Amino acid sequence: MTIESYNAERFSDITENVKRIKENIAVAAEKSGRKAEDISLMAVTKTVDTLFINHAIDNCGINLIGENRVQEFLSKRDELHLQNTEAHLIGHLQTNKVKQIVPYVSMIESVDSVRLAKEISKECAKINKTMDILVEVNVGMENSKFGIDSVLLGEFLAEIGEIPNIKVKGLMAIPPICETSQGVKRFFSNMYNMFLDIEAKKLDNIDMHILSMGMSGDYVQAIEEGATEIRVGSSLFGKRVY
Ligand SMILES: *Cc1c(COP(=O)(O)O)cnc(C)c1O
Repeated sequence: MTIESYNAERFSDITENVKRIKENIAVAAEKSGRKAEDISLMAVTKTVDTLFINHAIDNCGINLIGENRVQEFLSKRDELHLQNTEAHLIGHLQTNKVKQIVPYVSMIESVDSVRLAKEISKECAKINKTMDILVEVNVGMENSKFGIDSVLLGEFLAEIGEIPNIKVKGLMAIPPICETSQGVKRFFSNMYNMFLDIEAKKLDNIDMHILSMGMSGDYVQAIEEGATEIRVGSSLFGKRVY
């Protein structure tokens, strides 16, 4: 196979995948009493070549991308067609990388410590920016995962609500791997209840508009349980090759 025909095939796969995902979003949104437009589809771009990311942006209506790693995003950024597309950081962020990333993303979805929030604040203040953030919740209380423990969430939000140059917009979660769709739905539903509880408390300087949860294997369940943003990588771009 020539490189041209390989690329053409992948372009058409991506086009088909986005179409299918959007149809699934519409069905799941309706089941949860919402419209397709109420759900943001993020294309997760880790390991994906900029050629294919730009195809998704230019030809498939993708206007939100998510990258995990600071270095990888910075190395791709110049080639990406980001004029009308938002880029969010979704992977674990070390405080020593904050300075490099803050000018280039509109949201950091993986804030899970006061120390990190303060570092983002400090670097944003230097460039006169306010960074939208999501608080990552370790909904399955797994030792292996990043994120705030759900029992500490209220306290955490009260503390970071006071930090300047950052604005909390909602919550993000990666639930544990579950064998059944019922199993994962329970975690999504716990997240949704937390989201509603916090919203009802009307904490100072805390917005609860975005609930980012659901990936390739479980985005339908996530939407049915209240996700407002889903993060889809492999079922959109194809299997990742590391
Ligand atoms: C990789 C990744 C995704 C997408 O995973 P897929 O299963 O490929 O859809 C979503 N969110 C985060 C935080 C990720 O790291």
